[in-house]
Amino acid sequence: MAVLAPCDNCGRHTPIYRLAGVILDGGVARLCPRCVSSEKERIETPYAPRTDNGAIQPSTSREVW
Ligand SMILES: [Zn+2]
Repeated sequence: MAVLAPCDNCGRHTPIYRLAGVILDGGVARLCPRCVSSEKERIETPYAPRTDNGAIQPSTSREVW
């Protein structure tokens, strides 16, 4: 039986294994998958570096040819 915990953003009770630990507004929060996708601009994931920002990948832009 799944252990439920409330999402830190919407309060929805969600199986703990589906909650994602993220940085939200500078603090650690556990968000349900729904909030993870809806709050994408507000959260920073501590694990994955942002790939949509800064690093321009020369190989990608060249291989468009
Ligand atoms: Zn939520």
